[in-house]
Amino acid sequence: MSDTLFSKIINREIPADILYEDEDALAFADINPQAPVHFLVIPKKPIATINDIEEEDKAVVGHLYLVAAKLAKDMGFAEEGYRAVMNCNPYGGQTVYHLHLHVLAGKPMGWPPYQETLKTE
Ligand code: AMP
Repeated sequence: MSDTLFSKIINREIPADILYEDEDALAFADINPQAPVHFLVIPKKPIATINDIEEEDKAVVGHLYLVAAKLAKDMGFAEEGYRAVMNCNPYGGQTVYHLHLHVLAGKPMGWPPYQETLKTE
C-alpha cells in the first residue's frame, strides 16, 4: 500500500491533534469536523479499506473500537452516545485509503445517512 496522509501522521511527518496512541493504534482529531466532537481511530498497520482486512487483522480492528469506547468514556460522551463509522471506497465516501474509524459525538446523529426516493409505478 502506498503512503497516505495517515502514515505521515503516524510517523510525525505532518502534525495532528493526537488524542491517544499505543503500539497498534492512533487517534487524532479530524481536520474537518462534522460534529462537535470528531476524531479518527486508525491502526498503525496500513490497511487500505475494510475490503483489505485479513484474518490476522481481527484483533487490531476490534482494538479500534475499544480505543473509541475508551476515549468516549474519558471524554465524557459515552453515555449520551456517539456514531462510530468506517467508510469504504467511493460509494462509501472514503477519501483516505488507510483504514479509519470516524467517531462523531456531541449532538444527535441523523439516520439513515442516505434516502432514495422510491419510484412506485
Ligand atoms: P474518509 O472520507 O472516510 O476517508 O475520511 C477521511 C477523513 O480524514 C476526513 O473526515 C478528513 O477530514 C480527514 N482528514 C484528512 N486529512 C486530515 C489530516 N491531515 N488530519 C486530520 N484529519 C484529516
